[in-house]
Amino acid sequence: MIDVSQLKEEVWRWARKIGVSPKEVHVRKMRRKWASCSSKGRLTFSYDLLAQPEDFRDYVIVHELLHLKYPNHGKMFKILLKMYLQG
Ligand SMILES: [Zn+2]
Repeated sequence: MIDVSQLKEEVWRWARKIGVSPKEVHVRKMRRKWASCSSKGRLTFSYDLLAQPEDFRDYVIVHELLHLKYPNHGKMFKILLKMYLQG
C-alpha cells in the first residue's frame, strides 16, 4: 500500500518520462473507474489504486497520461502504451 503523495509522485515521474504536462493531478474516491482525464488536462485517479500492485498502477497511470496526447485508443496510443510499459 502506498499513500496519495507517492501515487502523485509516480504520476509526475511518468509525465516527465512521456513528455506530457497534466494541469492538475487528483486522487479521490471513484466508482467503476480507475482514473479519468478531462479535456482540460485534469487527471483524477482512484484511491483504490493505492492498494494495487506497481505493475497495475503503471498501466493505469501511463494509459491516462497518454490520453493527454491521444484522446482515443487508436494505433499510436496502443503502440506507445506497450512501449512505455515494457521499457
Ligand atoms: Zn482510455
